[in-house]
Order: sequence, then structure tokens, then C-alpha cells
Amino acid sequence: MAIALVTGGSRGIGRATAQLLAQEGYTVAVNYHHNAQAAGDVVADIVAQGGKAFAVQADISDEKQVEALFSRIDQAAEPLTALVNNAGILFPQCRLENLSAERINQVLTTNVTGYFLCCREAVKRMSHQGGGQGGAIVNVSSAASRTGSPGEYVDYAASKGAVDTLTTGLSLEVAACGIRVNCVRPGFIYTDMHASGGEPGRVDRVSPAIPMQRGGQPEEVAHAIAWLLSEKASYVTGSFLDLAGGR
Ligand code: NAP
Repeated sequence: MAIALVTGGSRGIGRATAQLLAQEGYTVAVNYHHNAQAAGDVVADIVAQGGKAFAVQADISDEKQVEALFSRIDQAAEPLTALVNNAGILFPQCRLENLSAERINQVLTTNVTGYFLCCREAVKRMSHQGGGQGGAIVNVSSAASRTGSPGEYVDYAASKGAVDTLTTGLSLEVAACGIRVNCVRPGFIYTDMHASGGEPGRVDRVSPAIPMQRGGQPEEVAHAIAWLLSEKASYVTGSFLDLAGGR
């Protein structure tokens, strides 16, 4: 069939998405940064269920590593037709007056520059104008782009605001090139990410304030991503799907 690249495919939402896309017939390129064991486990799970996948290490904030990631994909027999820009980071909760330039830049280079670089390389390969067969991109933003995450991580929320704008601009730029670009905005999803923010139990704490009274599961986000990538969403581009239990 074709290759789907899932950045940050080794854990959380990326992992669930990689597994679902493999079930749908894609060969999945499972990108990861540090945790080779976790990425290897995802690949092994997919292969055990009869699917196809391979792991590729790359820090998406580093231009050379992104180029190497896509070169590795070029070596595979199938074309790249799907990109899930999912890898993202945040740091411990704090107020804006305590943010350092170093932290802000780290968040922006991964969550924004990394998404831009992966879009750039994917568009080069997918675009009809460049000889590609078209494709679809899903950017994983966050409900934080709407709420701003006050008192927690405004830097992270702002990075997701940039992802929303990237989605709008790129979707229009490549609409006539055979490439659809859409965005999902998860709310509070049960993954390891909240531990990075210093509060592993964050989803349970906020659940009573979520209209649906619960956090979400990574698989619930993965299904939305898979639909946006699929032919069932063939007339959908520049759209945003909020997966936040009504929040
Ligand atoms: P997670 O469990 O913390 O997993 C993060 C993944 O990203 C890991 O696979 C990690 O790889 C990878 N990664 C981090 N930095 C990277 C880099 N520089 N280069 C390549 N890979 C990198 O995160 P998650 O909760 O599943 O979040 C996935 C996406 O959903 C993020 O964009 C996040 O902002 C968004 N989101 C999450 C929630 C939520 O409640 N969880 C809500 C809204 C939006 P290693 O393990 O190898 O480091």
C-alpha cells in the first residue's frame, strides 16, 4: 500500500495511531527520539498482528535529522502518502514570569519548527507538482491552543496555536497539489505527557470539570486521525477536530 510516518510514534497518542494505521494497511514508520525500546515494542506489536512497520530515530527539531528520517523512508519500496505530525513536548507547570528563553525555544523548536520541517519534507514527496501521488497530513495540536493553558504552560499552548495556523496556511497552499492538511486538537488524554508537566494524575484531577466528566484515551484520538487521513475524508482539508469531551 503506502507508508504513513507517525512522529513520536513510540508512546501515547502516536503509539495508538501507529497501531491503528498498520491495521488499516499502511506500512508505518514509527519515529521516536530517545526511547528505542518503546519504539521497538510498537513495531513488534504491529508485526505480531500481521502488519508492517519500522522504527526510525530522529529528533524532529533538528533539520539534518529530519532530512535523514525522510531519506530513510525513501529507501522503502512504497511511497509516503500519510504524515502524522504528533511528536510534542512540554515542561513542568509554571507561570509565564518563570519561563526561560531556553525553555521557550526548546518547546518551539520541537512543537513548531519540527512540524514545519516534517511538513516540508512530506510535501516535497507527496505533491503532484513534484511527481508525487498526493497524500494527507494530520497535525496534532491541542485544546490548549484555544484555552492558552494559564498557570501551566503558556509556551506549550502558544506552540499549538502556531500548529493551528500552520494547518490553515499549508492546507490552502497545497490544496491543488493533491495534499490534504488537517488538525486534531485533543483535550486531556491519558498518556505519559502529564508526568513531563510534573503532574502524572492531571487528567483525573480535571475530569470533573470536563463536560463529559472523563479524560480521553489515545485510541479515541487515533481514530479521528485515521479518518482524516482516509479517503472517507477526501473533501476535508484545513479542518480542525476537537477531541476534548466538550471542553
Ligand atoms: P507522550 O506520551 O509524552 O509521547 C511523546 C512522543 O513524542 C514520544 O514518542 C517521544 O519519543 C516523542 N518525541 C518527543 N520529542 C521528540 C522529538 N524532538 N523528536 C521526535 N520524537 C519526539 O505524548 P502524547 O501525550 O502522546 O502527545 C502526543 C501529541 O499529542 C503531542 O503533540 C501533544 O502535544 C499532543 N496532545 C496531547 C494531549 C494529552 O493530554 N496527552 C493533549 C493535547 C495534545 P521518545 O519517547 O523516544 O522520547
